Amino acid sequence: MKNKSVTIIGAGMAGLSAAYELHKAGWNVTVLEARNRVGGRVFSIRDFSKGLVAEGGGEFIEYRHTRMLSLAKEFNLKLGSLGGWHAETGDWGLFKNKAGLLSDEKIWGVNLEDEYQKMWASLAELGKLVNDPSNPQIAPNAKELDAKNVAEWIQRQDVHPLAKELFVCHIRSEYTCEPEDFSFLDFVRNAALYYSNSEEEHQNYRIIGGNDLLPKAIANVLPDVRLNAVVESIKIQDEGVTVKYKQVDSFHTLQSDFAILAVPLTVARMIDFHSSLPSAHQKLVNEISYGSVTKVLIEYRKQFWKEIGWNGRLYTDEPIVMTWGATNHIEHEHGIITAYTGGKPGAELSKLSDSERTKTAISVIEKAFPGSSNLIENTATIAWLNEPFTKSSYMALAPNQVTEHWGTLFTPAGRLYLAGEHATPIQGYMEGAVESGQRVAREIISFTTKSH
Ligand SMILES: Cc1cc2nc3c(=O)[nH]c(=O)nc-3n(C[C@H](O)[C@H](O)[C@H](O)COP(=O)(O)OP(=O)(O)OC[C@H]3O[C@@H](n4cnc5c(N)ncnc54)[C@H](O)[C@@H]3O)c2cc1C
Repeated sequence: MKNKSVTIIGAGMAGLSAAYELHKAGWNVTVLEARNRVGGRVFSIRDFSKGLVAEGGGEFIEYRHTRMLSLAKEFNLKLGSLGGWHAETGDWGLFKNKAGLLSDEKIWGVNLEDEYQKMWASLAELGKLVNDPSNPQIAPNAKELDAKNVAEWIQRQDVHPLAKELFVCHIRSEYTCEPEDFSFLDFVRNAALYYSNSEEEHQNYRIIGGNDLLPKAIANVLPDVRLNAVVESIKIQDEGVTVKYKQVDSFHTLQSDFAILAVPLTVARMIDFHSSLPSAHQKLVNEISYGSVTKVLIEYRKQFWKEIGWNGRLYTDEPIVMTWGATNHIEHEHGIITAYTGGKPGAELSKLSDSERTKTAISVIEKAFPGSSNLIENTATIAWLNEPFTKSSYMALAPNQVTEHWGTLFTPAGRLYLAGEHATPIQGYMEGAVESGQRVAREIISFTTKSH
């Protein structure tokens, strides 16, 4: 066992978690990472006043993300708590050129918060259609549910039209796709996982100093992490895997007993598999749908929102989808607001230059809170669609894709194993990436234990 080797492609949370487990089990592990940094979609931005950090990618660590929480503890990282999402009051809306608290009936004609809650209640009911969220493809009527999309369900709800718009904001921000492009079966699966128990409210966390301190800490204890190493070809053979990569101007070949592909499938499309991927896997890589997302991070000299009863969350029908407080887990005079835009508006904002995208986000917030732009100190932005080693937000399964591809996501392609936020039931989260990495490490270890 000692001499068994694994090449891991991608140093995001999935690849690093797999590498860490295999390294602890005594394997020879080499991690190849295309960027000049580890962490992938965990990317903390520090271009702000002293003491302020904001997340460009993975941000909230939920109370139930036990793997992330225990890794943070293991590496002595401090967590900042930001309370529960639904427990906080003070959500605002900016719809049809009107702005105000969602609960303000004078503005909206109804209490929009109550109307929106009705949709969450029917979502909790929906969850009952999928008994096992880890295996949605075998749910009763799986094919029929998978053929539908989420837009149809939203339209059928008996609520105020603006509550439906709020729900579209939820889909665009949580799943980063359009409701029309989102499989109803996957939506129901998520309801079964997360919303069947909507009464409970727990804490969420960020790592103080930046979430990327965690991938950096894991990489630090690994003996062989190669940066700027772009994998260009993978050949799966009966007894091992050959991986070719380019590092700056030189080309290298690595032969190992196993390999783990821990990159988004949007970029796996650029890798030459020499026809060695089974056809179901090649189809998965070619076809699976992903969302798009941009963040604009705006540092204000004063947390003006505290004075007006705004909690930082603004839902809009403008070019940005929603905002939230990015630094509400720490004490600081200044504060950062994240403008988060997924789905079609996210794809549109990705086409703009950084400064145009930033201007757009500032102007939407200014529209809801006149005068706020006078308080801006620093800004930063990222469009994940434009990142050459991500090219997406995270996986967003389109109609018919769950029944077609779910099983393949969890099946190794011979000696090549898939890990990443896409290859886990906890899809789209840092926690899911870790779960997938730890799972494939266990599978590889047990493969060799069984064959000896
Ligand atoms: C804007 C945004 C907000 C998010 N918010 C949250 C949140 O609040 N909470 C949460 O839990 N999750 C959130 N997520 C999701 C979370 O960040 C991801 O699910 C998780 O980080 C993905 O990890 P991964 O290891 O699967 O992939 P990645 O982090 O993408 O890692 C893949 C790695 O592979 C590398 N790579 C790519 N191609 C190659 C190649 N050819 N050769 C070598 N290396 C390559 C990449 O550079 C990258 O480092 C968010 C994501 C985004 C984009």
